Amino acid sequence: MTSSAPRPDTSRGSARMTDAERENDLVCSCCGRATAQAENVWRHEVPYPGDLGTGLCLECGGDPDAKDPRKRLGHAVCTFVDARIPLITPLLSEEHRRDFLSRDYEWQANFVLRCVEKGHLR
Ligand SMILES: [Zn+2]
Repeated sequence: MTSSAPRPDTSRGSARMTDAERENDLVCSCCGRATAQAENVWRHEVPYPGDLGTGLCLECGGDPDAKDPRKRLGHAVCTFVDARIPLITPLLSEEHRRDFLSRDYEWQANFVLRCVEKGHLR
């Protein structure tokens, strides 16, 4: 690129920031906390879903290495799923409701997300 147009200043006022510090200068778009690039759930997504300087932290976006299913899914997905479980269960037949409620949280979450993906639920 040979453009001579001035580039936007992303240093937030510090001309002495190192590249490593600049990489860590993200704000989680969900909770607003400072988020390191290494812990940014969106770091490999193309096109990038956030604005410049934003990311999605592991707590909100999910930590794939977490043992707890809720931490694996992340706060944002759990909030979404928790709000929809009470909407789904009355729509299921008695047999399917019993089956749904007997499953673990991760299975229920995947069921809810599939229903949304297929357009059965928003
Ligand atoms: Zn967050």
